[in-house]
Amino acid sequence: MTKDNGILQDAFNRKHTYLRISLTERCNLRCSYCMPENGIQLSPKSHLMTYEEIFNIAKIFVKHGVSKIRLTGGEPLIRKDIPVILEKLSSLPVELSITSNAIIIDKFINTLKANGIKSLNISLDSLNPEKFKQITRRDQFEKVYHNILLLIKEGFKVKINVVLIKGFNDNEIVDFINLTKELPITVRFIEFMPFDGNKWDIAKMISFKTIIECANNMFTESQIQRIQDAPNDTSKNFKVKGFKGSFAIITSVTNPFCDSCNRLRLTANGQLKNCLFSASESDLLTPLRQGKPIESIIEKAVTAKFKMRGGMDTLEKLQNPELHNNNRSMISIGG
Ligand code: SAM
Ligand code: SF4
Repeated sequence: MTKDNGILQDAFNRKHTYLRISLTERCNLRCSYCMPENGIQLSPKSHLMTYEEIFNIAKIFVKHGVSKIRLTGGEPLIRKDIPVILEKLSSLPVELSITSNAIIIDKFINTLKANGIKSLNISLDSLNPEKFKQITRRDQFEKVYHNILLLIKEGFKVKINVVLIKGFNDNEIVDFINLTKELPITVRFIEFMPFDGNKWDIAKMISFKTIIECANNMFTESQIQRIQDAPNDTSKNFKVKGFKGSFAIITSVTNPFCDSCNRLRLTANGQLKNCLFSASESDLLTPLRQGKPIESIIEKAVTAKFKMRGGMDTLEKLQNPELHNNNRSMISIGG
């Protein structure tokens, strides 16, 4: 590969234009598929990126072609300096967005608008308050639901992320699709993925095939329309004719979208992950603090990106706990 391709192009000619930045390892929920039961070993505060460091690292990525930044976590909105982070990042020529559990988002409507945030991904795994409490280990359904309606009313484009788990919320697929009848949202069903400490088992995963079968049982074939996916989209998009919203399926397990992957991830403690499933990380924060250039480290990390799922290129490999437990827990990666 020649230098002309830029430092964000990998060995498989994938250009990385999308950076997801985790702002914190902490969260105000405890979703069982994300946060291990006994919590995680948190990084000391001094090991976390400050807002200046986030901005300085982001600027380097933007200089090399990143055009989209998503803030995630843990719960990104619990960072005290979130208004400054948004203000700084919104001064860059990027599309800026957030993934949040929406619990405290009502306090940030004006801040989000002032910083050009137009679309948000919100997690909601059940429409049943008791089940919400069971999966998140917190009694906050009403707050989250209310805040989703508020975001819609305030004109934000809202995508709802639903992690489907067999025997837990797979009986709500149709309820979630029906939610798109009157609400102009996209409900995105996500196949349950394995990370350290989340007790993943492929038997608990609800696949693309099952979701589509479920939709087909409820609606006629002509009612369900396959709609255009956005470029580099991780989801396959559908719509029920006449409904205001749409639904989509993210098939990271059964049909990964690695060929068109354009994402890189920066953890809250300043480690670059070239893939969500990658066990290896590259420290950007230490050299940045030492005043050293970090471009060559970024280039090396991007070049080393595996063709598929951090090297777990078969379902057998993905199911091997020795491989998927090598990775962090999702709470400290930032989905
Ligand atoms: N706290 C925010 C939230 O919940 O939206 C942002 C961070 S959360 C880690 C980002 C996304 O990762 C959420 O939509 C969550 O559902 C998803 N996620 C977490 N663990 C997952 C898993 N094991 N499989 C699939 N998606 C997962
Ligand atoms: Fe928190 Fe989001 Fe993980 Fe749930 S999915 S524990 S809300 S970071």
